[in-house]
Amino acid sequence: MKDDLIYLDYAASTPVDPRVAELLLDCHRTRFANPSSNHAAGRKSRASIEHAAGQLSALLNVDPKTLIWTSGATESDNLAIAGGARYRAHRGKHLVTMPTEHKAVTDVFHMLEKQGFEVTWLNPADNGLLDPADFAAALRADTQLVSIMYVNNETGVMQDIPAIGAICRERDILFHVDAAQAVGKIPIDLQELPVDLLSLTGHKFYGPKGIGALYIADRPGCRVEPILFGGGQQRRIRPGTLPADLIAGLGLAAEIASSRIDADLDHLTDLRHALWAGIDEVDGVLVNGDLDAGFPGILSVSVDNVDGESLLLELEPICVATGSACNALSQEPSYVLRALGRSDLLAQSAIRFSFGRPTRREDVEFAARRYGEAVARLRSLAPEVTT
Ligand SMILES: *Cc1c(COP(=O)(O)O)cnc(C)c1O
Repeated sequence: MKDDLIYLDYAASTPVDPRVAELLLDCHRTRFANPSSNHAAGRKSRASIEHAAGQLSALLNVDPKTLIWTSGATESDNLAIAGGARYRAHRGKHLVTMPTEHKAVTDVFHMLEKQGFEVTWLNPADNGLLDPADFAAALRADTQLVSIMYVNNETGVMQDIPAIGAICRERDILFHVDAAQAVGKIPIDLQELPVDLLSLTGHKFYGPKGIGALYIADRPGCRVEPILFGGGQQRRIRPGTLPADLIAGLGLAAEIASSRIDADLDHLTDLRHALWAGIDEVDGVLVNGDLDAGFPGILSVSVDNVDGESLLLELEPICVATGSACNALSQEPSYVLRALGRSDLLAQSAIRFSFGRPTRREDVEFAARRYGEAVARLRSLAPEVTT
């Protein structure tokens, strides 16, 4: 960043890659025509969309026809879960998910509960992981849809998607994965991975905001009812004029990600190691989640006797998150960390550091130093409380 801010909140959003920014500008000038229009300018917009679909399908190893463009992961999650449950309603009304999912998932299940579906909420172990055996035990003859996220946005914990997906396939249960924190960051091969529906969003991997996609596997019985109604775009599964510019930007972001996922992962692993080495020195610090089963771009820590909101202020100009960005405006302790068995006080002290391609080693070393100083200062001001 140009100013003095040290941005360590890549799980909330990433800057667009400079090449994506340039492409967006060019598209705004030259690809503005409605891609549904039957003239040369419309064909240009259509061609950009097809090109982008090719780039994204290469990243995921899928047929471009399996991708539906949406406004982001929130919409993809809604379409997959509400649309999938409705399409399969004749098979039963039992659905399975976890309380540690993103709100864009949990709130859809709450809505479906009100509409008469029955939801089993599976709790993870204290490290955030779901045991596939516990998962299998929760399934019933009338279970028709399951939604389990890939990389958790608050803790970085990665669920065993291959194992959970294999269990769903065996029983012909529709399996949705919110992969907003995973696509473009860890290798995902949907020819190998037994997933039916997968949500992604551009702005978590250096693409634009306001554009995402839902992968819908080309398998019998794997379909969703639309949740939006309008023109006939995208086989009526998701109508609305397609933003050729944003889609082109997402496509390029996907192509860039394809070329450097392994190098990015190495870089993030180094950064997390350096950050944790510094933070581990602070008395009473705990990792939220699991370092071994975690995506290396996220480190969430809690600490005794310190309030997260006060820490956030003390840490400026370092930009980090308490709990998750979506809950930042409420003072409620994170529901995700509560589900990991953290007390209210420990959940309230949580700070999530998340880093990305532009992050330098000295940034996280500085952050670790400042974290230690901030904790010491806040402890010197506040009386002891027991957790
Ligand atoms: C960011 C995020 C979302 C929401 O994505 P938008 O594109 O901002 O709607 C959903 N799920 C997870 C896990 C996320 O990290």
